[in-house]
Amino acid sequence: MQAAAYLEKLNERQRLAVEHGVGQGPDTTGGPLLIIAGAGSGKTNTLAHRVAHLIVNGADPRRILLMTFSRRAASEMARRVERICRQVLGANSAVMTDALTWAGTFHGIGARLLRIYAEQIGLNVDFTIHDREDSADLMNLIRHELGFSKTESRFPTKGTCLAIYSRTVNSETPLTEVLKTWYPWVATWEEQLRELFACYVEAKQAQNVLDYDDLLLYWAQMVSDPELAADIGGRFDHVMVDEYQDTNRLQSSVLMALKPGGRGLTVVGDDAQSIYSFRAATIRNILDFPKTFEPPADIITLDRNYRSTTTILAAANGVIELARERFTKNLWTDRQSEERPKLLTVKDESDQANYIVEQVLANREVGMTLKQQAVLFRTSSHSGPLEVELTRRNIPFVKFGGLKFLDSAHVKDMLAILRFAQNPRDRVSGFRLLTMLPGIGPQTAGKILDTIAADPEPLMALAEIPPPAKSGESWPALVQLLEGLRKANGPWPAEIAQAREWYEPHLDRIHEDADTRKADLLQLEQIASGYANRERFLTELTLDPPDATSDQAGVPLLDEDYLILSTIHSAKGQEWRAVFMLNVVDGCIPSDLAVGTTQEIEEERRLLYVGMTRAKDSLTLITPQRFFTSGQHGQGDRHVYASRTRFIPVTLLQYFETAAWPVVAATPSERSTQQIRVDVAARMRTMWR
Ligand code: ATP
Ligand code: MG
Repeated sequence: MQAAAYLEKLNERQRLAVEHGVGQGPDTTGGPLLIIAGAGSGKTNTLAHRVAHLIVNGADPRRILLMTFSRRAASEMARRVERICRQVLGANSAVMTDALTWAGTFHGIGARLLRIYAEQIGLNVDFTIHDREDSADLMNLIRHELGFSKTESRFPTKGTCLAIYSRTVNSETPLTEVLKTWYPWVATWEEQLRELFACYVEAKQAQNVLDYDDLLLYWAQMVSDPELAADIGGRFDHVMVDEYQDTNRLQSSVLMALKPGGRGLTVVGDDAQSIYSFRAATIRNILDFPKTFEPPADIITLDRNYRSTTTILAAANGVIELARERFTKNLWTDRQSEERPKLLTVKDESDQANYIVEQVLANREVGMTLKQQAVLFRTSSHSGPLEVELTRRNIPFVKFGGLKFLDSAHVKDMLAILRFAQNPRDRVSGFRLLTMLPGIGPQTAGKILDTIAADPEPLMALAEIPPPAKSGESWPALVQLLEGLRKANGPWPAEIAQAREWYEPHLDRIHEDADTRKADLLQLEQIASGYANRERFLTELTLDPPDATSDQAGVPLLDEDYLILSTIHSAKGQEWRAVFMLNVVDGCIPSDLAVGTTQEIEEERRLLYVGMTRAKDSLTLITPQRFFTSGQHGQGDRHVYASRTRFIPVTLLQYFETAAWPVVAATPSERSTQQIRVDVAARMRTMWR
């Protein structure tokens, strides 16, 4: 029989991976498989083909579990799978791939499984999920209650506490060791931290709240029961994971429990792109994968890059070759190009923004849409000046990995109302909601929440509480609203409109710019209509909120052309024709927060590599001579002088075209002194480094 056309487009090894195990028995599952290969070698593409190939060969899509780095990546994958399936199955393919319902992030899938199995593991099914900010708020509440923030004036901040807690949980490492290795400067507070974390865990349980880490932790706990593990594992014939290098130990232990013998398990990744060790991700997962099984997993490596031009790939390879440890080999490509990546010196961040705007528009003139271009940066705050310039020039953009729509106070208020109605024991939401009312401060709110939490029917208990002084009409209105939401018998998302009606008068009182905020709330209703019900809406919104855009409303401008701004972390797995990287200077990349250990520096190098390998046709790294830094290490906001990142030493300059901008005018008299200074500095750097 002739091979399907979609297989013929693959190279030999991609095809091996796609066909692995298929047809070797009565079913489509084979032994464990690891695909390990460099950036742009078609790993994700191969995985999509494998899913499609399995479906075409009779695998049940409802029994395929596919875990990706973001929800966006999951839906992109589902689209690709459908495209491929359509070639063989025709119109039927849509039905088949619609059934690919178990595609999402580790956390999202975990949340769904926990709701299904809640009763069996003693979890109340109405649990609320806390995002990082909510978790930090809860940590803070407890920190205050324990009095640590008062007596110990230098006690770690709520953010640090949460980071320590999270690392301990995700790496399954004892607290003492985590402190010694990662947070030696707070090790003296070990006792207090232990107490704080114990109370934090207790509080979450009492309030029926799960944080991000809990989604994995409960999942791991659930599958440590062999019967449950077999039951959950038995739901799926295939379990596949993309970007496996960025999973942590907890995630790998969950996988191993689902598929103990490795049958039907496929993982894909690149150790050179591991950039999440701050969340306890470990490349040991990917390196140890083959030998976890008996017989060991098959390994397929890919060595051809289909994404970038020869010159871009040469520069990226140059950067990663200097890494200390690496498993994947260099890639090759046949996309010949004469144009080397640019290494551009500019005076400061405002010139950097101007340059990008000019260049992005020039690219558009020659047929490159805005969507085919992206600006990447190490830290979300780096794009500030560029965002201002883009807004000023009316160029639409979408920002990934930065401030989210949901981070705005009024949207959080609305969500607090919905969450509290769903789970009245959720203290963070309760606090937020009750303190919106006139006359109710944190103390009164705390007392009310204590009283109702002690009752088996908290919302009924709330209705019986005498209205707090000065709360006026707003109290009975609140009780009525919560009662209505609890019953929630109207069509979704009409509940949002109910909540909005109650909330708007408060909005007028709390915020001056109430009108723009009201527009956001309408948008929220719009977003909500895309979800099946309140629970799905709250879960998915918390786990993977929409990105911020230049449009105040914050909803992605789906049909329009827009420029992508993204942190390097959030750009994982994606590609653009033109890529600009901001602030490619020491202090930004490597970040000056990461100059401690060799491992941290190595991770920053991999970040640069990830960023550079996003580019297909054109890559520009920009080094401003001065950049603005917000207060760190006890220093205030200030401008600092910068030098090119240490990851591009003079030996690598051959791979780049170095230049300065603005381009200096031909006649000396027209040159401004400033331009000359930029020029001279750029020259000197090339000579001395
Ligand atoms: P990353 O490491 O960045 O996640 P990746 O290895 O997952 O990259 P993909 O995103 O799957 O790589 O593929 C990179 C590009 O190469 C995509 O545009 C994809 O369509 C293309 N590509 C992959 N395989 C082939 C092939 N056999 N023929 C032509 N193009 C291909
Ligand atoms: Mg990929």
